[in-house]
Amino acid sequence: MVSLAHPAQYFDRIQAACPATGVVSLDGDTHVMNASFNAALRGVGAICHAVDLILQAKDTNAFCATRPPGHHAEAETPMGFCLFGTAAIGAKYALKQAGINRVAVVDFDVHHGNGTQDLVWNDPEIILVTSQEMPLWPGTGDATERGAHENVINIPLSAGASGADLMDHYHQNALPALVAHAPDLLIISAGFDAHCADPLAGLAFTTADYTEITKMLCDFADQHCHGRVVSTLEGGYDLDALADSVAAHVSVLMEHSR
Ligand SMILES: [Zn+2]
Repeated sequence: MVSLAHPAQYFDRIQAACPATGVVSLDGDTHVMNASFNAALRGVGAICHAVDLILQAKDTNAFCATRPPGHHAEAETPMGFCLFGTAAIGAKYALKQAGINRVAVVDFDVHHGNGTQDLVWNDPEIILVTSQEMPLWPGTGDATERGAHENVINIPLSAGASGADLMDHYHQNALPALVAHAPDLLIISAGFDAHCADPLAGLAFTTADYTEITKMLCDFADQHCHGRVVSTLEGGYDLDALADSVAAHVSVLMEHSR
């Protein structure tokens, strides 16, 4: 599955980089230990398995509670705690399955989904909507970054922006584009570090905002892609806010589950 998004040499390099003992730093943020490789592979396996289960009509949606996150990993570069581009791999895997011709990825992590953007840039079947605080690490995500097929929508948010601000952007810009794309599946890169309590960023989302954002995305999925949603965990660094926000997110998914 990893080879859908990353060259074999990259896969081998990440495996070789994970030490038998101790910790190795791949960059200033991305540190790996012995278990890291299998943990990242299980994240990839989880999203692909979730796609399988949904296509087998076992359920209409799923949440993958995995670590490490994935949305910063580019084709040949680990970044920002991420080793493999989980959401992009899930989208590319889904496109290999019968009945899936187009996929939407929505990333509401506070940081730019630069890895997902890199991995889907040339894929007209995949539309990516990614919102991020700007300026903020990794520095990319300007609205002018549109993908090779205008299949990327970047929503930069100023420090202090609220969940309502993001939902305004969804209404004005993203949802019409998502409707036009007519996806057969929605993948959510669910990072919860836009929460006002998060120490790594400066947005002002509340736990209740994640309920409303998830409702909006599930309503879209109900109306336009048979309710099919696969959500995968990205960032979130205030553990209490993360726990509450994930619970809010999953509660809405469960309400929409059929
Ligand atoms: Zn993040």
